[in-house]
Amino acid sequence: MSEKKSLLNDAQSRMEDIFDRLDVDDDVRHQFKQPRRIHQAAIPVRMDDGSLQVFPGWRAQYDQSRGPCKGGIRFHPDVDADEVATLSFWMMLKCAVVNLPFGGAKGGVKVDPKSLSRLELERLSRGYIRAFYDVIGPNRDIPAPDVNTNETIMGWMADEYSEIARHKVPAIITGKPPAMGGSAGRTAATGRGALQVLEAWARRRGMQPENMTIAVQGFGNAGYHFARLAKESGYRIVALSDSKGAIHARQGLDPEPIWQHKHKNRELRGMVYCQSSVCAESDVDHMSQDDLLALDVDVLVLAALENAITTDNVDQVRAGAILEIANGPVTADADKSLARKKVTVLPDVLANAGGVIVSYLEWIQNRTGDYWSESYINERLADQLVGQAELCFDRAEGENIDYRVAAYLQSVERIALAIASSGTQRYFCSE
Ligand code: NAD
Repeated sequence: MSEKKSLLNDAQSRMEDIFDRLDVDDDVRHQFKQPRRIHQAAIPVRMDDGSLQVFPGWRAQYDQSRGPCKGGIRFHPDVDADEVATLSFWMMLKCAVVNLPFGGAKGGVKVDPKSLSRLELERLSRGYIRAFYDVIGPNRDIPAPDVNTNETIMGWMADEYSEIARHKVPAIITGKPPAMGGSAGRTAATGRGALQVLEAWARRRGMQPENMTIAVQGFGNAGYHFARLAKESGYRIVALSDSKGAIHARQGLDPEPIWQHKHKNRELRGMVYCQSSVCAESDVDHMSQDDLLALDVDVLVLAALENAITTDNVDQVRAGAILEIANGPVTADADKSLARKKVTVLPDVLANAGGVIVSYLEWIQNRTGDYWSESYINERLADQLVGQAELCFDRAEGENIDYRVAAYLQSVERIALAIASSGTQRYFCSE
């Protein structure tokens, strides 16, 4: 079976060790085995030429012991039930690592969204909400953007939900345009948070940004904001890649003009997606995406998709540390090899939690009607994320375990407590 097919098994293979270390009871082990629900729908879309296409879509709700489910919606040709379930599992862990009152969910549609016109894409986005209207809601399950879904798409989805409900429900979705109740700072939050985690770790090591080189796989929303803010903080970004290729400059790249260049065409033509690539850059060396993963840098940032580092390419990794902005970019077996090579991994459930923290703040603002400034949001993001990251780092260093294990322990402990607090097991025990 390919690694893609067994994503959930691969993700869960890390759990037995965590359960044993925490000595959790069987209730928790059972509840972690599978998502509570996976909803599947066929989403019909009237195409611009009058024909009808039907796209498969999913919403997986892994667990809601700590609060309503929370998780993004992905549009991608490779989406399937296994991927969506796995992403909902990681969302559950992530929300608990950073102590948010949410469970985990994820949604997806199997589609090549870049082949659709803007109107077809809007009809698909609205169709997704019509298909899953009954199972989501501001107190039940709150979606957000993920790969190939963005602020524009969240706006259409929030509008569709409100149309069906016959009143405005801004708290149904986060990552909306600010004009519809979206939070200041949400678009940059994942990249900003990842930088905060990296800086908290680097401070402990006495490492200075000016002396650190970084390569970024995945120059999309999360990767771009990370790279832009890291450059502003003094780090040297030496390489960037996207789905079409990679660029490299030992003296350092400036992410901002590269992003602007990549998106100029999109804005001019009112497109939802950017069809250009970092490869359009001249005056820089071009390289393959695989070669970027093998660069000798202080930090390799993985901000594209799952399974970027597997047993096939882990031996080529020469970075001192990996910052996981993507969900699940390193397989469980590759993780073991990285540990043997003493490569530090700052794990996804911590490193990319900035997005869901600001989504939580957006949800609070929507529910209270009290809207906050970007500087206040960024301050709250830093307080919550760095505070929880420091707890993980202390635990890892105190117990001599890696950061992923420390983050998983922090998360599972909290979920287990919620399960135990709401359960009935003690009524059935003999003592
Ligand atoms: P995005 O679609 O904006 O960007 C993804 C980028 O990865 C694109 O530039 C794409 O071209 C590139 N890419 C795809 N395959 C690649 C490959 N083989 N090599 C190099 N680049 C490749 O998506 P995003 O929102 O930036 O999300 C990226 C990752 O971060 C995903 O795993 C997502 O689940 C995770 N994440 C995102 C958020 C968020 O708020 N956006 C929050 C948490 C986690």
